[in-house]
Amino acid sequence: MSIYTPNFCPRCGTELEPDEFDGDTRGYCSVCETHVFHLPSPAAGVVVLDDDRVLLIQRDRPPFEGQWELPAGVIEHGETPREAAARELAEETTLDVAPDALTLTKSGGHALGATGKGGEKNKNSSDSDVFVVETTFAVSRSETTGEPTAGGGERAARFWPLAEIRPALRPGEHERIHHSTQALDS
Ligand SMILES: [Zn+2]
Repeated sequence: MSIYTPNFCPRCGTELEPDEFDGDTRGYCSVCETHVFHLPSPAAGVVVLDDDRVLLIQRDRPPFEGQWELPAGVIEHGETPREAAARELAEETTLDVAPDALTLTKSGGHALGATGKGGEKNKNSSDSDVFVVETTFAVSRSETTGEPTAGGGERAARFWPLAEIRPALRPGEHERIHHSTQALDS
């Protein structure tokens, strides 16, 4: 199992052999007698809404350094998507929320580094081999506790008026915010 195209067995290190299986060419480890699948990378994020304002973090590293995005990150082993979204919110903004308070608003997938129309391309070419499956949740500010403060890996964390922040948003984020505002309104 690998989020990159696998060439070697992650269990024993043996070079994989191409094998027709399940309608596609897969890598096969003759030592472990198993196929090694090219898996997606799961991620989760949360849109915290306070009337017409949305909670965003400012990236402190490439790609998209200095641009604003939703609190989000990779789902760790043993976590559900909503647990991961709540953890990322706490790590990146210090706001706390109960995982069960989150409303599922969107699930989607995209190549890592794919940025939507006309966006800046991710410079790391190996990233295009990674397919991110992302789950987005929404929650009202009133369901969270604490004051937003940038976590260790972020430059800033704050609420922004939706109309004001759009030009500084990382590509693709506006659509996720839009889905969430609709979900909490309905
Ligand atoms: Zn093996």
